[in-house]
Amino acid sequence: MKSIISLYQLEYIFVIFGFFVSFLTFYGGLSFIRLFLKKEREQSKWKIGMVSSLLGVFFYSINIMVNLSVLKINDREVLVYHGLIIMLLSSVISYIVIRIILNENWRGRFLLRGGFLVAAGIFSTFFIGNFVYFNKVIAFNFVQLILALLLIIGFSLCIVRFLHLMNSDENLLISLGWKVLGSLASGTVFLFLPYLVFYGMIEKKLIINPGQQGDPYLIALAFNLLCIGLLIYIPDRYGVLKQMEQSEQLVKHEQQFQTLFHHNPDAVFSVDPNGKFISVNFIASEYTGYSISDLKRMTFEDVVAPENANLAKGMFKRSLQGEVHQFEVLIKTKIGDYKELYISTVPIMISGRIVGVYGIAKDVTENNRAEKMIHYLAYHDELTGMANRRYFNEELERLLMHENQVSFAIMLLDFDRFKRINDLFGHEFGDRVIQAIGKRLSEVLDDRFVVARLGGDEFTIIVTGNLGEKGVSLLAQHVLESFQYPLLIDHQECLLTASIGISLYPEHGKDAAELIKYADMAMYDVKDKSTNNYAFYKEEMSNQTLHKIVLENDLRRAIDEDELILHYQPKINTRSNNVIGFEALVRWQHPSIGLISPDEFIAAAEETGLIIPIEKWVMSQACQQLKKWQRYFGQHLTMAVNLSQRHFYQEDIVCTISSILQSVGLEPSSLELEITESMAMFNENETIEKLNKLRELGLEISMDDFGTGYSSLSYMNKLPINRLKIDRLFIRDITSNSGDLAIVTTIISMAHHLGLEIIAEGVETEAQLRILQGLDCYEVQGYFYSKPLSVEGVEEYMHSYIK
Ligand code: C2E
Ligand code: CA
Ligand code: CA
Repeated sequence: MKSIISLYQLEYIFVIFGFFVSFLTFYGGLSFIRLFLKKEREQSKWKIGMVSSLLGVFFYSINIMVNLSVLKINDREVLVYHGLIIMLLSSVISYIVIRIILNENWRGRFLLRGGFLVAAGIFSTFFIGNFVYFNKVIAFNFVQLILALLLIIGFSLCIVRFLHLMNSDENLLISLGWKVLGSLASGTVFLFLPYLVFYGMIEKKLIINPGQQGDPYLIALAFNLLCIGLLIYIPDRYGVLKQMEQSEQLVKHEQQFQTLFHHNPDAVFSVDPNGKFISVNFIASEYTGYSISDLKRMTFEDVVAPENANLAKGMFKRSLQGEVHQFEVLIKTKIGDYKELYISTVPIMISGRIVGVYGIAKDVTENNRAEKMIHYLAYHDELTGMANRRYFNEELERLLMHENQVSFAIMLLDFDRFKRINDLFGHEFGDRVIQAIGKRLSEVLDDRFVVARLGGDEFTIIVTGNLGEKGVSLLAQHVLESFQYPLLIDHQECLLTASIGISLYPEHGKDAAELIKYADMAMYDVKDKSTNNYAFYKEEMSNQTLHKIVLENDLRRAIDEDELILHYQPKINTRSNNVIGFEALVRWQHPSIGLISPDEFIAAAEETGLIIPIEKWVMSQACQQLKKWQRYFGQHLTMAVNLSQRHFYQEDIVCTISSILQSVGLEPSSLELEITESMAMFNENETIEKLNKLRELGLEISMDDFGTGYSSLSYMNKLPINRLKIDRLFIRDITSNSGDLAIVTTIISMAHHLGLEIIAEGVETEAQLRILQGLDCYEVQGYFYSKPLSVEGVEEYMHSYIK
């Protein structure tokens, strides 16, 4: 140890070496950290450890140089101890420093914490090092030691700051000069620090200062202060430059962003993780009705309509988790309007963390409205606003496509005698009646049922919900009953009855066309038999149609084979209580089917033209029969025959009739022709001309089924007819239905007014008879007096009557 004491003299060559090593350590270390570690996202502890150990070796070599500069002979043993301590401690310090400067989330307190840690490390390294080397000659100079400690602290803070700054910069070139300068400064400080500690710990007299100019301690101190100053200055200056460059870029970015933000045709906004608006553009303010400053005090939830609050919150949450979303949301504006916005949201990322959400919103209210309108128009009936035929069809298809076969029913509603309303009161009124019907149906049937208007007065209901046949029946009854109360149109009461046909899925049909066809058949079946009623489809109904086709073929044969027969229904004058005449009604005595009613074959006969030979036969047969009865009963009786439109328009009709009359020898005034309203509507002039010719012959003309057709009452005075025959449909409910009573009353009084005779058909009860008498209608025909009778039946009836 003695030998060491005499050798405390600076060897400048080692000092210079030490300086190079020190500079290289800093510069190389910095580059190494940058190239080797910084690129890695997850810094592996192993790699940092390796770099730290390498740095430890370097720091050790610096120390060797320092030691060599003051020690002539190396005490190897001490060098090894000392070296190990230096290497270990400086490796640990390097490790800590690297971790600190590489930390992404750099905070100010890291600098302090790191700085003091490093300072403690460096100081203790040197202190322990010196203690080991010079333990025999230790003489503390506290002023110098504290000064050294302060310098170490200052240096440590500076170096951590410098390293971090260098490391966080992306631009390698700009930082190169600063890096070199900083490394030189750090290298210098680091080289001189051990000397300063050394001076604070060793007896002064042992340090030989061999005639050099200046005190080496003061030189080291001066260098150190200068370099620490440089280390303070470099990051400051560098920071300013960097900031300038950054702010230039920021301005550029900001400008681009502002353009995007403010001149965007859509609303652009950003919200923080609490949903509070951070920024909004002018359009956002326009959409919501709130000013920009108002919005910045609000959260997005204040703007979203309550019914969409959950949706918006959910989307926002997911955006905060990093997802990008597009969705439509309803907002409520300041004045309480609703708007539909199509919003795209993007998370805002800063340094890998999501700090909010950007949104771009487009007002799609108009678009949606137009789309909905188009959809609405396509699927709704203009007049009633109800679903239309297309809607009905698609709904039906949808139900049929349903995976789990569901059972449902289709109801087809047709309003009885609706045409008459149109004809009597005009189409405008008719439209309003249809609207009222629609309204009534919507009131009676809740949303579970699809109610559609198919056109005209035809409505349909899809009955879902597995109601079963019984449930469907009840519903049909319910619908019918709802029309027991008159519809009010312009303060006018309008009473309507409906016929409902029902088909069931899957029992009756497998597809839409079949189901509709069968419901239609059932509906017509109701109309045929009665009205204001409903019926389920039955197989016989189809058979009936089949029946019709068979009948058509047979009918041709019927005329030749004499299968037609006539029945006669008496007409009574209720005042004198006399039979005044008969109506001849044809029947078909079919060899296999039996007696067929004219209702079943007249339409087919008209279609095929067979009606003409049939009616010729009826006419001559009826005339012959009447001739006989006139003689037999010795009184003036009339015979009415029905004349079809087709026959009426035959050119030779007048000739045909007059020749029949002539051949039978019957007074023309005994024959009455029953024509229908519809034929009177056709070719008005030709009709009038023909009717006039028939009148000239001396025939009576009566308008059959009056009230069911197309003509209005006022039109009747143009036609040369003698008599109106009120349709039995009006008589049927005359005692219970005030509407029917009103119609009959009007018809009768109009007939009187026009000088026309009037007869009511279908009188079945005394009550009906009384009402008609009260209205001054005395001619009647109906089951109350007699059903249509065979020849023998009439004779029997007349005998009993006369008695
Ligand atoms: P229509 O001319 O209206 O004949 C009256 C029908 O009412 C007859 O039916 C008759 O049986 C029925 N009727 C009479 N009184 C009552 C009653 O009190 N209650 C009920 N419920 N019904 C009553 P029918 O005989 O079945 O004839 C049906 C239709 O066939 C006739 O209706 C007529 O339009 C047509 N028709 C019959 N014969 C001929 C014909 O020779 N030529 C043409 N073109 N049509 C005919
Ligand atoms: Ca008739
Ligand atoms: Ca009739």
